[in-house]
Amino acid sequence: MTLRLHNTLTGTKEVFAPIEAGHVGIYTCGPTVWNFAHIGNLRAFMFYDLLRRQLQASGYRVTHVMNLTDIDDRILDQAMHAGTTITEYVKPFVAAFFEDMAAMRAQPAEQYPRPTEHIPEMVAMITTLLEKGFAYVADGDVYFRIESFPRYGALSHLDRSGLRPGARVATDRYDKESASDFALWKKAQPGDDTLGAAWDAPFGPGRPGWHIECSAMSKRYLGDTFDIHCGGVDLLFPHHENEIAQSEAANGKPFARVWLHSEFLSDASGEKMSKSAGGFTILRDLVAAGHDPLAVRFFLIANAHYRQRVRLTTDALHASAEQVRRLRDFAERVRRTDPAPAADEDLIARIAEVRAAYRGALDDDLNLPQGIGVVFELVREANAALDEKKVGAGARGALLGLLEEVDGHLDVMGGEEPGLADEVERLIAEREAARAAKDFARADRIREELRERGIALEDSRDGVRWRRVTPA
Ligand SMILES: [Zn+2]
Repeated sequence: MTLRLHNTLTGTKEVFAPIEAGHVGIYTCGPTVWNFAHIGNLRAFMFYDLLRRQLQASGYRVTHVMNLTDIDDRILDQAMHAGTTITEYVKPFVAAFFEDMAAMRAQPAEQYPRPTEHIPEMVAMITTLLEKGFAYVADGDVYFRIESFPRYGALSHLDRSGLRPGARVATDRYDKESASDFALWKKAQPGDDTLGAAWDAPFGPGRPGWHIECSAMSKRYLGDTFDIHCGGVDLLFPHHENEIAQSEAANGKPFARVWLHSEFLSDASGEKMSKSAGGFTILRDLVAAGHDPLAVRFFLIANAHYRQRVRLTTDALHASAEQVRRLRDFAERVRRTDPAPAADEDLIARIAEVRAAYRGALDDDLNLPQGIGVVFELVREANAALDEKKVGAGARGALLGLLEEVDGHLDVMGGEEPGLADEVERLIAEREAARAAKDFARADRIREELRERGIALEDSRDGVRWRRVTPA
């Protein structure tokens, strides 16, 4: 089977083929770290994780870039009210984002670029757009001229008769009705300097608009043209439309080849989940209410297809927790049961059939819910076979193989040892102390010890992070 993905650009499912054999470049719009990510954001991030895992399962090496937006109107507002710089203001929310991702077992991206650390790239792109006549300066701000880009609106199927040439919007977010020239650069306002939010540029001191960061940073890490761009459907217009216009106008080359959009999560009343709609639920609230982050993960990726709207309710979360428990119990039972001296060719054939159906579902635009449905049918059948002592060594091995493959996407079956996180954090702190004391032999020993227990350490700009790997 080959992987097929629903490309928003063409509105069809297409057979996926990367630019470079064996390697896929993905850009995904990440969080704006002005606050905790709400569950609607997390749905998109877990969808990115599912995509990554399916590409890896298909044999590709993945380069995944996810931006952390650390400057926008809201961050400036909040930092000003808090009397601090934007850099200081976002720190706890950056940390909280990585904690949420780890709690939900999202695989780390290869790069987490931030706009405040890529100002030169953005200034260069804006300069090119000015030189090529796609942008203009108005009262110290720089705007993209949408009239100059005839393909503007192709992704979101915008009715171009509604365009208002020359009309300008300075805000980062607006609706289709107000499609108009958008800000690439906003001139410095009094006080921006104190917030650490003003930079020099040939077109005057100021700060970047929101949209230019993704064009400049995807170019830096993935090149002018790359394989897949993802985001929540709420970013389709204007953000993604603006990204395409900026990148293709500046680079003179096609931008992302495949666009994938995940649907909204709605709250219990059916409203789109967002802070502005008042349905603000964050992972730590759910965890405080007793929900397992892995049940939330299961709910977000396995309960409904990523292009379907889904409603977050307590009942739905409990149902997901129950499904996770059933999978864990089944895996445990298979592992603990000694193979029966039984002829189990029929069961082996049935497992192979389920495995093929599972793979087929994932290859069909990441249809994990369908794949999981087939697996649960098998769980029922295999539990009955276990009751009757009809599972021999062959079927047992095939079941374990299938469960491992399924957990490659779900990542919910490996139960956490109680207190593991605290223990790992303690060892990381010990290793840091050893490194500070230049006792590198001891630091390396601690790293090795963790590696043997299936914990890999990664040094990042945000300190040391850890993730589960196959024990060495
Ligand atoms: Zn973006």
